[in-house]
Amino acid sequence: MKTERTRTKGERIFDGVVGAPGIAIGPAHVSEAGALQVPEYEIAADSMAAEIKRFEAALERSQNQLSKLKTKSLALPDATAEELGYLLDAHLLMLTGSRLVRGVKETITNKRINAEAAVQMAISEVARGFESLPDAYMAARADDVREVGARLIRNLTDTPFQAFAHLPPGTIIVAEELSPADAALIDPEIVAGFATVLGGKEGHTAIMARSFGLPAIFGVAGLLGGVKSGETVIVDGAAGRIIVDPRPETLKDYGSRQRTLERERRQLGRLIDLPAETSDGVTVRLQANLELPREVDSALSVGAEGVGLLRTEFMFMNRDTPPGEDEQYESLAALIAAMGGRPITIRTLDVGGEKLAYSLGEHLGDPVNPALGLRAIRLSLKHVKLFEAQLAAILRAGAHGPVRILLPMIAGSGEIRQSREILTRVIKRLKRRGVPIADPIPPLGVMIEVPGAALAADALAAHVDFFAIGTNDLTMYTLAIDRADEQVAHLYNPLHPGVLRLIQFATQAGMRARIPVSVCGEMAGDPRYTALLLGLGMRELSMAAPSLPRVKQRIRQIDMTAATMRAEIIMSQADSGRIAALLDDFNGLA
Ligand code: PEP
Ligand code: MG
Repeated sequence: MKTERTRTKGERIFDGVVGAPGIAIGPAHVSEAGALQVPEYEIAADSMAAEIKRFEAALERSQNQLSKLKTKSLALPDATAEELGYLLDAHLLMLTGSRLVRGVKETITNKRINAEAAVQMAISEVARGFESLPDAYMAARADDVREVGARLIRNLTDTPFQAFAHLPPGTIIVAEELSPADAALIDPEIVAGFATVLGGKEGHTAIMARSFGLPAIFGVAGLLGGVKSGETVIVDGAAGRIIVDPRPETLKDYGSRQRTLERERRQLGRLIDLPAETSDGVTVRLQANLELPREVDSALSVGAEGVGLLRTEFMFMNRDTPPGEDEQYESLAALIAAMGGRPITIRTLDVGGEKLAYSLGEHLGDPVNPALGLRAIRLSLKHVKLFEAQLAAILRAGAHGPVRILLPMIAGSGEIRQSREILTRVIKRLKRRGVPIADPIPPLGVMIEVPGAALAADALAAHVDFFAIGTNDLTMYTLAIDRADEQVAHLYNPLHPGVLRLIQFATQAGMRARIPVSVCGEMAGDPRYTALLLGLGMRELSMAAPSLPRVKQRIRQIDMTAATMRAEIIMSQADSGRIAALLDDFNGLA
């Protein structure tokens, strides 16, 4: 991990892993691990009884939810049901006359504060007690206490999972870790950037930061002890640096850099009406990746031709139960309407691995190795009802505008066959119900992101309508490097010849089968790689919306014949350092 701490007359500098570019300056908010952000206010003496009643109602709701989850868990395989049963029992126990419950009631009465704040205090106290125990098993119970507390708070506020909602605008979040689900709660109107101790550049949280246009850095050791809430900090995303309590000269310098970046952004904005066409007239299709529906505006504002990857995980995060068919349909239909006839490639659920969704906890179980476990299509094929509901929602939404269905983490043709069978069944069922659905039936494509799928791309191409190459996972699985682990972030390298050969083979296989091929991993949004991807034959790229103008600018500088020749030279190289040098030379950087 590249981390160091430097002192320069008062200001403290911490270096970590580059996350999302840009500069953010603002007050720090140091987020305690696992703590939810809750409002705290005083309760009038005559409202105290009502406040305790409100807490008791939330307690009862939480107990009911846990009991329901327990009933559902009985349908799981024996070992999982047993393990989950123990956990849910432990949670239920914490909500029945426990120290936690007593502590909350006492705090409401003695401190005269609202129930949410009292729960937050009680959780911190009880969790700290557990953490201080020498027994590792008991210490780990602190997480259970926090989880139970979070449920109580969600039921109290009735506006579930509202982390970071009460911070002043311009805040910079400093945390041990932010999960993709946490990141989904970040409102860019409030949060200006963030820095964390854990996490890597290619992790999903980093992808979301880039997508929201929020400067972010990861893997900053010693960060939490080095900054206090309220202190001014500068996050320099491109440099992977955070400066705490900056000197006036530093602030001035970064203020002017911020203005320069803004000027550049405005200049790039002028490209919106120009075609994404190389200097020798080859057109490239540029689309946006969406993490959350609210990003539609930024996709349209940069001139995206469509959505090349809609990550549907957002619908399943930060809630207690998964959404049903109708809710998913409404969400997708709204998105399709907002895109005004531009096509949307909707990827089916890709939770598991680092992308966890609380609502699916019982489906995911407790994998030995999450990245290699029940993730993405594997989860959908195991929990067919979940998959059917999602496919039905996509088909119904497809009646309102052009969509394609994309399956994540496909490894072999068996998964495609099973998925098609389920799709056919869902279509029949919807037709029987007389519900309007997409006509014609949307194309069905697969992510090429597992090395085995890339190597078998010629065989897979016969079974699908399009390929979307996911370079993030393809790099991770090919090189056996966890994309979200800051300790190995420096080893993650999409220019490794092994990764490039897989991309090339899959692209050529798709082209031979005459099916559309795109890249929707992070490589697509980095102008450093544009010439190489085009040189390998790629004509469709999908990326975080803020990256699109720069990639378009790069495309307009490229001569396709020269890029193809340079790609050929690059593909004959064995060393990734040499490949990087040849590419940077072509890009005019070296
Ligand atoms: C990828 O793996 O490249 C990809 C686009 O999918 P995700 O980042 O959502 O795993
Ligand atoms: Mg992926």
